[in-house]
Amino acid sequence: MRTNGKAIIETENLPIKLWLSEEKMDKGALEQARNLANLPFAFKHIAIMPDTHQGYGMPIGAVLATKGVIIPNAVGVDIGCGMCSLKTSLTEINTHDLKEIIQIIRKTVPVGFNRHNEPQDESWMPKRTGRLPIVDQEFDNALYQIGTLGSGNHFIEIQQGSDGYIWIMVHSGSRNIGFTVANHYNEVAKKLNLAAGADISTDLAYLPESSEYFDLYQNEMNYCLDFALANRQLMMERIKHAFTKVLPEVEFSNFINKPHNFAAEEKHFGETVIVHRKGATRARKGEWGMIPGSQGTHSFLVTGKGEPQSFQSCAHGAGRIMSRAQARKQLDIQTEVKALKAQGIIHAIRSRKDLDEAPSSYKDINEVMSNQADLVNIEVELQPLAVVKG
Ligand code: 5GP
Ligand code: MN
Ligand code: MN
Repeated sequence: MRTNGKAIIETENLPIKLWLSEEKMDKGALEQARNLANLPFAFKHIAIMPDTHQGYGMPIGAVLATKGVIIPNAVGVDIGCGMCSLKTSLTEINTHDLKEIIQIIRKTVPVGFNRHNEPQDESWMPKRTGRLPIVDQEFDNALYQIGTLGSGNHFIEIQQGSDGYIWIMVHSGSRNIGFTVANHYNEVAKKLNLAAGADISTDLAYLPESSEYFDLYQNEMNYCLDFALANRQLMMERIKHAFTKVLPEVEFSNFINKPHNFAAEEKHFGETVIVHRKGATRARKGEWGMIPGSQGTHSFLVTGKGEPQSFQSCAHGAGRIMSRAQARKQLDIQTEVKALKAQGIIHAIRSRKDLDEAPSSYKDINEVMSNQADLVNIEVELQPLAVVKG
């Protein structure tokens, strides 16, 4: 069924609203969306963004509002994963300078599984308030991980903007500290739910408001959100230094830094609820956000339209069209590299295993953008020039 240009799926409990056609959703994601809709504490409807694909428990590119419970798996394992963007005063950049900047970035921003050799200044870390048992346990390690990129989907990209300026974009999350918090509280939730006789087979174990773990998880999750923001900010500082070393006159402005994996208490449809965004970006009216495509396609800077039906949210990217394993098996490295080279992009595909991050493993970003024309305005379109991946 389609109303107002959106597909709606009815379930025994709440409806699912899709910002893409049902046929374009993978079976796994559809089943997971149904599981969400059938949760007794889910609120109003489930909002599925156009970049959706199967995740763990809850699809990536989905928004779930709840009353009375919080669900660690509806935030995801990379708590606070998100994007930041920065505008430079440059209107062009030559390949020689670009390569030199990338080289300096590689020296100051560890990528992949690497971390710093030295602990970073503690002033970069968010302040700890309230009870944070898992964060406390991970804190000293996190001093070595703040300002590091991580692997796979995380990237640093230098882009040419349709506004005439060169932009910098960073995608990363809360590294090991967020991962540890996420897993710990998912295990706690599973134990609590099992003891209460609830079904945990859908991987959506929850923490009820009545349990002390509800507040504890929220506090630790919020710390990880702040850590992820600080992680991206520190990387951006080091990237700025790299630019300044090569091009001393450069200036920077318009810093935007946002998560796409988080839960927050918000007011929707007149009620206070917990909105879980897993691979979804908050898009309140006029709020800036980032929607990356891939290393070979455009990315977008957007402002939200504040659409109530999406719980004021939009997509967080193009979204995968095939699994990592599938991409490595099916895609042809020569074809992918040729397409990137034809655009003059300093890309990050060096071997077959990098094919999981090839542009062809992601959905068509232009289709994703047109599917959410009611959610965001496009402000700046960004063409990739150079990308660094873990
Ligand atoms: P996540 O991994 O957080 O679920 O998704 C991030 C999104 O970033 C993906 O859906 C994809 O569209 C986008 N993306 C992945 N790799 C790159 C890249 O190298 N450059 C850009 N601009 N976008 C990317
Ligand atoms: Mn991440
Ligand atoms: Mn992410």
